[in-house]
Amino acid sequence: MAGWKFMADLKTIKEFILDFLFPKKCAGCQKEGLWLCDQCFEKIVFVKAPACPFCNRLTSKGQFCSRCRGKTFLTGVITSAHYEEGPLKEAIHHYKYNRIRDLVEKLAEIMVRRLEEGFPNGRLVLVPVPLHPKREAERGFNQARELAKKISEYFDITFVECLKRERYTLPQVEKTGAERRTNVINAFVLEKDISQIKDKTVLLVDDVFTTGATLSECARKLRQAGARQVWGLVLAKV
Ligand SMILES: [Zn+2]
Ligand SMILES: [Zn+2]
Repeated sequence: MAGWKFMADLKTIKEFILDFLFPKKCAGCQKEGLWLCDQCFEKIVFVKAPACPFCNRLTSKGQFCSRCRGKTFLTGVITSAHYEEGPLKEAIHHYKYNRIRDLVEKLAEIMVRRLEEGFPNGRLVLVPVPLHPKREAERGFNQARELAKKISEYFDITFVECLKRERYTLPQVEKTGAERRTNVINAFVLEKDISQIKDKTVLLVDDVFTTGATLSECARKLRQAGARQVWGLVLAKV
């Protein structure tokens, strides 16, 4: 159809102009033409020995150990790679703060590779950690949602966007652990259709795990909706 052709041409023109104004540069080696080149991608170090996210005691899949279990509503966290190794930290920064949405392809691939090592048991659904609409408008996209979408397409796992962030909170970066916890309490609400969550194992997607306060608060709501287990799924632990 002519209309579609026109739209496609417009998209190409837009890309051409953007490439000209903001040339693509690898987050790792600054080489032009790509946001993350293959050589730099291969320098990313995947998590081979899953551990309790709080105390780092080894656990089979990254679940919380018996001592830490009571401190969170999460079952465990699937951490994909090491934040400080290779160019991962830079790539996440570009994606999130420089709004390089195209990096989602490579970043989702990291999560996919990690998941190929094994999934938690149960019938899976993917839920992204929501952003407040105001923050999403500022950034132009929700980084967690983009990642979750790609993973859902790759593995054909149901994608359910059932959480909404109601309260606008200040960025977590500037807060201490205790402040982060109170900052997110009751920040999220469940959307009306929660039937897809009941009895499922939820993979709750976010870009990074910091204190786990946000993920735990989302997990609390998902458990209210009847989720059997809630696993965080992140690129890295900060
Ligand atoms: Zn590179
Ligand atoms: Zn522990």
